[in-house]
Amino acid sequence: FPSKLPNVGTTIFSVMSALANQHQAVNLGQGFPDFGCDPKLVDAVTAAMQAGHNQYPPMPGMPQLREAVASKMQALHGCRYDANSEITITAGATQAILTVILATVHAGDEVIVLDPCYDSYAPNIELAGGTCVRVPLTPGTFRPDFAKIAAAITPQTRLLIVNTPHNPSATIWSADEMRQLEALLAPTNVLLISDEVYEHMVFDGAQHESAARFAGLAARAFIVSSFGKTYHVTGWKVGTVAAPAALMAEFRKVHQFNVFTVNTPMQVGLATYMADPAPYLELSAFYQRKRDLFALGLRDTRFKLLPTTGTYFQCVGISAVTELNESDFCQWLVKEVGVAAIPLSAFYGNGFDQKVIRFCFAKKDETLQAALERLRKL
Ligand code: PMP
Ligand code: GLN
Repeated sequence: FPSKLPNVGTTIFSVMSALANQHQAVNLGQGFPDFGCDPKLVDAVTAAMQAGHNQYPPMPGMPQLREAVASKMQALHGCRYDANSEITITAGATQAILTVILATVHAGDEVIVLDPCYDSYAPNIELAGGTCVRVPLTPGTFRPDFAKIAAAITPQTRLLIVNTPHNPSATIWSADEMRQLEALLAPTNVLLISDEVYEHMVFDGAQHESAARFAGLAARAFIVSSFGKTYHVTGWKVGTVAAPAALMAEFRKVHQFNVFTVNTPMQVGLATYMADPAPYLELSAFYQRKRDLFALGLRDTRFKLLPTTGTYFQCVGISAVTELNESDFCQWLVKEVGVAAIPLSAFYGNGFDQKVIRFCFAKKDETLQAALERLRKL
């Protein structure tokens, strides 16, 4: 039968992790921690299972978890989301994003993404019968180019997807940039997905500027996050989406016939664990130390470090290290040097190669040291 995604192969993250395993390389490619989560979180989930929380939860998620998410958003961003009608628990951010797209994009609608971007967006848009319109972030700095975004908006534009802190560039949007976006969208009906999965990883005293902080954005936004990133449990695949009630009602129409709902004991355990804000409030300091350890280790190499202000990724320029393109260099690096990384070209629609690769530093210090030992030989 004709493929629904004829131009799509296996994701770069699966490909690089398989290569890393095959070559016993240090895996700084796919973004996931190689250390455990807080045992208290596992205890909370175990207790939930033992207490009998093992049947279907309500379709939008366990009320106590939705309450906890709404309270956190209020405390951090001063915005009110109604836990009943405006928050839904999802099977990770990936399902949240797909479900928003399926719920909002009609055949022939246009969706603007900012290149480079997370690799699930474009295939999701294609599955919905939409057209993915790629607007580049400014080359070199990865700042949003508002003139280019404005020029890409047409009467067919249904949705814009933004992501801050940004995977893969590790940049974050400033309050001023969020206000510019708010002003740009004000005269339009364009909806927004604000992918904020790295919301609790911002460095050097910077603040995460959630779309929830800007009334004009919040009114049109599906704000997506993921417990996987925040609590070091990427394998649990539990995420959240927050949106005004009318938008959320449409989201839930699709969600109920997609996954229907998300596993109960993890939701109950996460709700218990969220009572203490310390784990997410301390996450930035935790990752800033790892960022600095990794960056210091690369200081005397020919890799050119790009600034990391958010996420758990470090991008580096490879021009002084190799003649190879990003993709070939990553293949060579994993096989011959024993370190896995991700080429930035994998995040572009046109495979744009700027000789920059991405390392993930969400790793034990000894893992980072083992990688540095190998990278310092180049
Ligand atoms: N968006 C971005 C920008 C991501 O980096 C990721 C994780 N790789 C996701 C969404 C998906 O998150 P989840 O694992 O919760 O589905
Ligand atoms: N978000 C992670 C990354 O960017 C990986 C997610 C996945 O493997 N699909 O590395």
